[in-house]
Amino acid sequence: MIDDSRTSTDIDLWQEFVDDPDFLELPSGGQEKLIEFLNRSMEMKLGVVYGNEEPNQKEACIDCKSYQGKCKSKCCTLIFALTQEEAEAGKVQYNKEKPYFIARDEEDGYCPHLDRESYQCNVWNDRPIRCRSYSCEKDDYIWPNGFGIDPTTP
Ligand code: SF4
Ligand code: SF4
Repeated sequence: MIDDSRTSTDIDLWQEFVDDPDFLELPSGGQEKLIEFLNRSMEMKLGVVYGNEEPNQKEACIDCKSYQGKCKSKCCTLIFALTQEEAEAGKVQYNKEKPYFIARDEEDGYCPHLDRESYQCNVWNDRPIRCRSYSCEKDDYIWPNGFGIDPTTP
């Protein structure tokens, strides 16, 4: 089980809005109220959250196969919301309690589309824009010891 707020099955909406300029302009009390409202709306099945992604985003060009022995595809534990198009296409599972955040397995925190032995994505051609465009190179959550260095090395 991966224990981290970025991967929690308790969706952290703050992470979703952390780069949103409109959200950041809200006064701090307003930010908290909006987050609370959205959480309540999802819980009561009154509202959903869609990801806001540019459809033509550049794909990250990391040779994942060379690193998956070390990273164990930890990126596939990160939480994000599917775009409306992705949710409607129905190719990628979402969190039924918090639509349309991507589904995560409660047991190990991974995406249900990840093969646990090979660490390969089994919906590769239909993977979400966020998966296509994310680069782990500068992410110290994935690589606490630096990109490509075994995270289990002290
Ligand atoms: S993006 Fe990074 S963490 Fe994800 S599989 Fe590729 S190398 Fe591993
Ligand atoms: S859809 Fe594929 S690439 Fe995206 S998180 Fe799931 S397993 Fe990983």
